[in-house]
Amino acid sequence: MIYEGKSLSASLLDGGIADVVFNAGGSVNKFDQQTVSELNELCAALESADGVKGAVVRSEKGAFIVGADITEFNDVFSQPEDKILDWVGKTSRVFDRFEDLPFPTIAAVNGFALGGGCEMTLACDLRVADETARIGLPEVKLGLMPGFGGTVRLPRLIGADNALEWMTTGKDQKPQAALNVGAVDAVVAPEKLKDAALAMLQDAIDGKLDWQARRAQKNAPLSLNQNEAMMSFSTAQAMVAAKAGKHYPAPHLMVETVQKAAGLDRDGALKLENEGFVKLALTDAATAQIGIFMADQLVKSKGKKQAKAASKDIKQAAVLGAGIMGGGIAYQSAVKGTHTIMKDINQDALDLGLNEAAKILNKGMEKGKVDAKTMAATLNHILPTLDYNAIKDADIVVEAVVENPKVKASVLKETEQVVSDDTIITSNTSTISINQLAESLDKPERFCGMHFFNPVHRMPLVEIIRGEKTSDDTVNAVVAYALKMGKTPIVVNDCAGFLVNRVLFPYFGGFSKLLLDGADFTAVDKVMEKVFGWPMGPAYLLDVVGIDTADHAAEVMAEGFPERMARIANDPVQSMYKAERFGQKNGKGFYNYGTDKRGRPTKEAAEEAYQLLGADTKEFDTDEIIARLMIPMANEAIRCLEEDIVGTAAEADMALLYGLGFPPFRGGVFRYIETLGLENFVKLADKYAHLGPMYQVTEGVREMAAAGKSYFA
Ligand code: NAD
Repeated sequence: MIYEGKSLSASLLDGGIADVVFNAGGSVNKFDQQTVSELNELCAALESADGVKGAVVRSEKGAFIVGADITEFNDVFSQPEDKILDWVGKTSRVFDRFEDLPFPTIAAVNGFALGGGCEMTLACDLRVADETARIGLPEVKLGLMPGFGGTVRLPRLIGADNALEWMTTGKDQKPQAALNVGAVDAVVAPEKLKDAALAMLQDAIDGKLDWQARRAQKNAPLSLNQNEAMMSFSTAQAMVAAKAGKHYPAPHLMVETVQKAAGLDRDGALKLENEGFVKLALTDAATAQIGIFMADQLVKSKGKKQAKAASKDIKQAAVLGAGIMGGGIAYQSAVKGTHTIMKDINQDALDLGLNEAAKILNKGMEKGKVDAKTMAATLNHILPTLDYNAIKDADIVVEAVVENPKVKASVLKETEQVVSDDTIITSNTSTISINQLAESLDKPERFCGMHFFNPVHRMPLVEIIRGEKTSDDTVNAVVAYALKMGKTPIVVNDCAGFLVNRVLFPYFGGFSKLLLDGADFTAVDKVMEKVFGWPMGPAYLLDVVGIDTADHAAEVMAEGFPERMARIANDPVQSMYKAERFGQKNGKGFYNYGTDKRGRPTKEAAEEAYQLLGADTKEFDTDEIIARLMIPMANEAIRCLEEDIVGTAAEADMALLYGLGFPPFRGGVFRYIETLGLENFVKLADKYAHLGPMYQVTEGVREMAAAGKSYFA
């Protein structure tokens, strides 16, 4: 044995080949600090071992190395700047030390080799991948750039243009794509991986393969003439500006770093990488995006645990109502392989529901994402019916009829009479309290909310609402079904609007008040889209949701929380509703919707909307617009956490990200509060407290701010 650590070891094979094997204790190999220091010790052992002529690096697990240990980032990045620089500098020098070993090295890559894993392969002279390999540098998704030499070695290996595309998109690459650009030297079947790597290494040892030249290339400046450099970097800059936009500093800094380092050797280039890495690690965007990663892990592991505990397997589902939502839910259920009955009271609605599913599938076929077999299977899995009896054998029923408490109560009651005793019944209501709906049922323990978002096939979130009487078994089975549908379930407790709509309506409330005070809705949309980063500003979002739907929901919310959400006099949403400006669905809302000469959709601020709203327009500065909309949302989210509607700040952030499209670079509403700083947030809210109860902070957050506490501690 040359070296034996907890995560990696090296033994000497015949012919003087060191067999370096990553085999960490957990389910995957990753670069935590322990593994990095073992790699350093391994280098020392290899440098002093006798008779080593070459080294192969491989994994004993299903994947090579999945990347750095992101769970350590929080601690590392909360240190002072010089300490982070020291950490990344030392770590990247371990990879240099490996690269500088006095004999040829080769990586044998199976499964994921991402981030630090990819950088490990780049520190080798040669790379062989098997057909399962996925190689890439996804750091950009965390608001970072590669920190273990990736920005230096990859461009020198595959060219600046290819490397920047890999790094700025963060996409992992299939082996053939990696081979095409020269990121790997060969692709083989999984069972041949080790032998192929050993054979190639032997060629290098025997001088048949010029490994020194490969190594020299990674150590030298980039070989680009001025024209090529201009092409590569200006193309990359333009791509990043168009795709990532200004809110995401990481891809911009990557292009800049690779460009500045182009004329430098490895050590000079690495210094720039180290500095760039630290700069990004300290940005709010990185904190937010790393926070999302951690929150996503939490949500996923909670979901998996609950699904595992489920005692019931959903084989047959039934959806009541074939409207926008029912049609979407039936499609999503069917496309993931569950037989799904779609029941409506109206044949036209059933036809529309099926057509909608066919349309989504057709689009998927056009994009090459769906094949004819999936299309046929999905449509076969949906059984449209007008007959209640058809649902009698369903394991789960998702009610998605009109948002009317009386209609829903009677539909749920009827359902209970038709289905068997252990059928789970859920409602896709967006606002009505689950406890209230449960009153119409004899067995409320098998009932809960299952709130999907529109469009169902695209929006990842399903809010699962546990009523007072809902059993754990019911929640677990519904979580399992949501996961089977490919969705991200988040379980919340019951109240009007649940979590997502409960925090959305105060935001709309803030918007309404701002309009009444004279703001121009296009100016507000512009700020909330361009500066804050929402996919749609509030006026546009209301138009898309439907002003009639929003007005109706606002009534339910006002009933649920009269102290903060009571309807205000001359509420613009109500005025628009009364004037039958329902938004996109009838072509007129805050904006008028139409098509241009070429048939492309158009959207223009509606003169009629300005006339209806009446007030003289007044200019508000950007900060005030953001504060007046976001404080009510943040305050309501805090209340939801304090009242145990949602379990953790992390889950609340994920729910808003997946359900509303909260800007990822802001990480969610609690991350937004934390980025401002709790104390600053309280100060800001106090400044607007005179605007009404929506702006008044809870005692809880005031105390947390005073005590210097965090929602993510
Ligand atoms: P919709 O009007 O498009 O569809 C409702 C369908 O229910 C219609 O096809 C109607 O014929 C049918 N229906 C009415 N009574 C029925 C009955 N007794 N049995 C079977 N079918 C019946 O409405 P939608 O937008 O799909 O909303 C449905 C539910 O989903 C509502 O509770 C709504 O609040 C909720 N929701 C809607 C959205 C959204 O963005 N549209 C988002 C989340 C949740």
